[in-house]
Amino acid sequence: MSGASRESPSKHYVRAARVATAGARGTIEDGAVAIEGSRITAIGSAADVTANAPAAAVETYRDSTLLPGLVDAHAHLTLAGDRRTYEQMVLDPDEMMALVSVRNLQRHLACGVTTLRDNGGRNRVTFIVREAINRGYFVGPRLLLSGRPVTHRHGHFYWCNGVADGLDAIRATVRQLVAEGADHIKIMASGGATAGNIPYYASYGAEELRAAVETAHGLGRLTTAHCRAKQSMINALDAGLDCIEHAEFLVPGQVVEYGAGVSSSGIMEYDPRVTERFLRQDTFISYTFQAGGYDSLVELRTKAGHERLTPAEATRKDALEAYYEMKLGIFNRLMGDGMRPLLVVSSDAGPFDCEFGRMHYGMELAVQAGMSPLQAIEAATSIAARACGVAALTGTVEAGKEADLLVVHGNPLTDIRRMADVAAVYKGGLKVGVLPPNALLPSPPR
Ligand SMILES: [Zn+2]
Repeated sequence: MSGASRESPSKHYVRAARVATAGARGTIEDGAVAIEGSRITAIGSAADVTANAPAAAVETYRDSTLLPGLVDAHAHLTLAGDRRTYEQMVLDPDEMMALVSVRNLQRHLACGVTTLRDNGGRNRVTFIVREAINRGYFVGPRLLLSGRPVTHRHGHFYWCNGVADGLDAIRATVRQLVAEGADHIKIMASGGATAGNIPYYASYGAEELRAAVETAHGLGRLTTAHCRAKQSMINALDAGLDCIEHAEFLVPGQVVEYGAGVSSSGIMEYDPRVTERFLRQDTFISYTFQAGGYDSLVELRTKAGHERLTPAEATRKDALEAYYEMKLGIFNRLMGDGMRPLLVVSSDAGPFDCEFGRMHYGMELAVQAGMSPLQAIEAATSIAARACGVAALTGTVEAGKEADLLVVHGNPLTDIRRMADVAAVYKGGLKVGVLPPNALLPSPPR
């Protein structure tokens, strides 16, 4: 069912100074896993697991941490993250978007993402990219695909060609997407950074969203909605969505210009009553922490550390600092109100400056917003896997699950920045031959 199913290598072992399972076994000092075929068959202390193992079958990572492969619940594999606007990026033909996907997926795999949920690409491009991985043309993460996002005329991402106005059209579009291979349905419930959109208003009503949800659920598919507006979050809850993306709680009012990459928008107004409903309905929030300019902010901070910013750069840095301060604040409130078990940290890689291969940015921000490093890791592994409906397969280091593994140097449980220091990535038990993640990027990470 996934690209990992090639011929089974014989039984082998991976041992590390510690194994952070992100699951029931907690963290095991000097731990190891046994792998047969694509699956983990045993996990425990290295002394137990590798007791009868031939030395040549044990791969040992000293002063390193073995973790579950990351699950990125929100990315756009067809978009280059090269600081063009959507309007510029969509000038690329489908063929170029497919090639962009190959590069993006290799970057994400190199940073430890072994499962990626795509939340919207044009036409059939994402389905064709997955077929290429399954044929073995290149190695990529396990892909969970929405195909084209469902959106209204000139709604967010309308250029993907998943436009549906009216209940019948929404139902027909969902059925068509499932027939083409969609694993889940993504619906645009508020405006976004597409030109002409207004992010702080809902773009579909609850009745329209419910038509999509009922049709998708009737076909065994999960649903998630793009929700920047607070009203769109409420509509999504009314409609019974399984997950929502972004959760900026935007309300109309003062229109704030946050700088390049983030469309001018209303203000973020946290509302604990909305959070209470997420908890009651068991609805996930996929918090796309680094989206909207964090790559640029990191670059500007670095530059400001050793030279003078131009006035334009200084203005942009101030705008981005203000935006991330608000985003950190919302996340902190969600945590404080008990959302952690339903809170996913995802990248939204692809649009504007949000590069593939920097999944660690989101986890670093989550720690700044009050999570422990382990909690941030769980938000991008075990909790993300549950939100994406693949917890039986991946998301923790556990016997019976796919051997999707990430090894990083040092101990990310005491310093989350170690998540960027990748030693090895395994997908379905196979060590992926990848460059260090940052070797593929045009600029240094910080
Ligand atoms: Zn997105």
